[in-house]
Amino acid sequence: MMLSTAPSVHATMDATYQTALSQYDRAVRYLDVPEGLIEFMKWPRRELTVNFPVHMDNGSVKIFTGYRIHHNTVLGPSKGGIRYSSHVTQDEIRALAMWMTWKCALVNLPYGGAKGGVIVEPKDLTENELQALTRRYTSEIILLIGPKIDIPAPDMGTNAQTMGWMMDTYSMTVGYSVPAVVTGKPLIIGGSLGREEATGRGVIVCMLEALRQQGITRSPKDISVAVQGFGNVGSNAAQRAHDLGFKVIAISDISGGLYNPRGLNITEVREHIKRNPRRSLEGYRDGERLTNAELLELPCDVLIPAAMEGQLTGENASRVRAKLIVEGANGPTLPEADAIFNDRGITVVPDILANAGGVTVSYFEWVQGLQEFFWDEDEVYRRLERILIRASDEVIATMDKHNVDMRTAAQITAINRVAQATLTRGIYP
Ligand code: NAD
Repeated sequence: MMLSTAPSVHATMDATYQTALSQYDRAVRYLDVPEGLIEFMKWPRRELTVNFPVHMDNGSVKIFTGYRIHHNTVLGPSKGGIRYSSHVTQDEIRALAMWMTWKCALVNLPYGGAKGGVIVEPKDLTENELQALTRRYTSEIILLIGPKIDIPAPDMGTNAQTMGWMMDTYSMTVGYSVPAVVTGKPLIIGGSLGREEATGRGVIVCMLEALRQQGITRSPKDISVAVQGFGNVGSNAAQRAHDLGFKVIAISDISGGLYNPRGLNITEVREHIKRNPRRSLEGYRDGERLTNAELLELPCDVLIPAAMEGQLTGENASRVRAKLIVEGANGPTLPEADAIFNDRGITVVPDILANAGGVTVSYFEWVQGLQEFFWDEDEVYRRLERILIRASDEVIATMDKHNVDMRTAAQITAINRVAQATLTRGIYP
């Protein structure tokens, strides 16, 4: 393959995309593949930006901007979540789409990577407005999605209900029900048992593997865990750790954190959130309040950043006291922080492995939907565990082979799989 020219370099590229690209540049140094292929795998395959109107409840019309980006489709249809947040940018979606490509490849799913998002603060919209926004956004990106083309799922700010609306909008457009067009949807319309818990559960499978690798065999009650972010990923990871007897000493959401060195009762905290009209940790009494920044620096055995990207930086990494970091969120660690953790001997189980449980059970949901044959929860969890443990073992083998940190090893393994598939398929025409 010849070296092609790169797409325009973005003068104001955001930190998340810079992180994804710099991780890529670091990993591909270990690959023996043509230069042109390295360049091809780096950039998104196709990108769609949509600006669309939504009727608000007060009679006004508001214009929103959304994106859907396919990073790579060599291994199969693209797969990736939809994010609703006021912080969404095109660069952020590019980074998240790229990570989806590596994540699916790492756990050996027949998928490429994609991501979508809308610039909106979902908490500021009513249920009715959110439904209208979701339906219009779905219809704007409908050319790019489909059960054999690109399959969305929930991410920050979206949930099973959002997927239900997307599935219905797509189905109404084509004229028949297509459950496999999205994953992470409610059970009643073809969701999978275990999907809601899958990402958090997978985080804990990876934590257990890393503890085992490090020879940490203490009883779970003597191992402390701090979790930043208490949404789908954080709350399910905290719950699973709690259920297994680990001492979850701190949790947080956007309103701040809670700290109890004796361990928090996560089941009770979740009950509190359900009762709280603000759906937050605020008002829970059994623990001291602390900030999100303070949580990251607590003395603990395991830190699980499960909120958002860019939380561990060159500024705070030297003050982190955890011995092991397991990335529930995508991109929570900036490259400067990675370098500090590597120097300090702190292991970081990277996002594309640690949070791959979500897309893995999304794959199970898609398979079940296509076959219209559904599995019980035990089967879902058994298969999930097997896939994550196999991927962890492959990453460890790559670490040993190249003498690199875990993130670089995970990226080498994943990128090499996409590279080999591309070489096998060849260039069209
Ligand atoms: P979510 O919207 O369910 O929860 C996000 C949590 O983070 C909430 O508790 C929110 O209050 C908190 N939060 C938001 N902004 C914050 C801030 N500035 N500081 C501290 N806390 C903040 O989202 P989620 O689905 O749990 O996703 C969390 C992360 O995990 C994201 O990086 C996402 O891409 C990643 N991820 C999600 C899945 C999934 O299946 N949902 C799968 C893989 C990766």
